[in-house]
Amino acid sequence: MSSDISKVLVVGGGIGGLCAAIALRRQGVAVDLVEIKSEWTVYGVGIIQQSNVVREMARLGVLDGYLEVAYAFEDVGIYDLQGNALVRIPGQRLAGPEYPANVGISRLSLHQVLSTTAIDLGTQVRLGLSVESFQQDATGVDVSFTDGSAGRYDLVVGADGVYSKIRSMLFGDTYKPRFTGQAVWRYNFPRHPSIDHLASYVGAEGNAGLVPLSDDLMYMFSTSHEPGNPRYEPAQLAELMRDRISKIAGLVGELREQITDSSQVVYKPMEVVFVNEPWFKGRVLLIGDAAHATTPHLGQGAGMAIEDALVLSLELSGSGSVEERLERFMTRRFERCKYISENSIMAGEREMARDATFDRIGLTKAMLKLTAEPI
Ligand SMILES: Cc1cc2nc3c(=O)[nH]c(=O)nc-3n(C[C@H](O)[C@H](O)[C@H](O)COP(=O)(O)OP(=O)(O)OC[C@H]3O[C@@H](n4cnc5c(N)ncnc54)[C@H](O)[C@@H]3O)c2cc1C
Repeated sequence: MSSDISKVLVVGGGIGGLCAAIALRRQGVAVDLVEIKSEWTVYGVGIIQQSNVVREMARLGVLDGYLEVAYAFEDVGIYDLQGNALVRIPGQRLAGPEYPANVGISRLSLHQVLSTTAIDLGTQVRLGLSVESFQQDATGVDVSFTDGSAGRYDLVVGADGVYSKIRSMLFGDTYKPRFTGQAVWRYNFPRHPSIDHLASYVGAEGNAGLVPLSDDLMYMFSTSHEPGNPRYEPAQLAELMRDRISKIAGLVGELREQITDSSQVVYKPMEVVFVNEPWFKGRVLLIGDAAHATTPHLGQGAGMAIEDALVLSLELSGSGSVEERLERFMTRRFERCKYISENSIMAGEREMARDATFDRIGLTKAMLKLTAEPI
């Protein structure tokens, strides 16, 4: 790593921030990471990580530990709402022939693998605080933290998610999260023997997916149109989720009646934001959802955050001024993330319009082709 980048502050201990810490520590950079939550928990159920992510996990040096706690699978199956197979899209083994194409992993397991690795590599993690303010000059950034402490860094990486404080500090109110009109419903089940791949059920009357997370566990997700972004009573959630998938037969229909515990339904309105200009000013940069939060329709939001982290560490170790290196980072990241962001949002809009001409299979294949390209 160039000697002018020897100490970096990462703001946010989610997937993107942790991967940035890991990648930078592997380059010998000192990393402080601050996370606003005092209990470092993660919300949600599980996450799909596709072949490009498996490849980048290998490059981050975490693949073996990660695969131990993930469910490896090859194909994506797309079915109609009666459960009839429409197409089976074969997986691409981008990490090498000995590694699986795709994985499903619980968010908690992913967090544990990444946080343990980051800490073992020497990342200095502080919980329950954030950045209060910063001032930068030509050679560094002076940061004041919310606990009254301070530090000077060669670079600050804002990986603080869709409601990024660092984004507001850089761009004011220019970029604010927007509700897309849809929400996601998720629920865990014992894994059904037939769910040894990602199964996606699609049609104008609804949609759902089943994702294996381990030999014993899988989760169901469904996206729905929720005009006005209503706030539901927590006790209603199981009944509402059953309603949203009531037009789906086959395995989803069989599982539907098992959605009875509202406390286990994870409901999340979809919010998006895209910073449509370079994601840095001086020595302060955004990555992940802070720069490009999108909907989960292509299952690539975390994938893009992980890729950002890896490309950042690679570009920082290159030559040129800090600005030139960050510009090269942007060149490698902007269009790829924009494609994922825009096409994910477009898929949701076509669902809301109940557009029977929406070529979801074509979009999935195009996304897989694009994300297979090296970063
Ligand atoms: C319902 C749903 C399903 C999804 N499914 C998938 C999927 O299957 N595959 C996939 O690849 N992606 C998926 N995504 C997207 C994925 O979850 C995100 O893209 C990913 O979590 C982004 O990581 P991040 O680190 O940028 O942000 P986050 O995961 O949001 O992490 C940000 C971190 O910063 C912390 N923080 C916030 N503010 C501050 C502050 N001021 N100071 C310090 N710390 C702060 C937060 O507490 C958090 O720990 C899904 C998203 C949703 C909503």
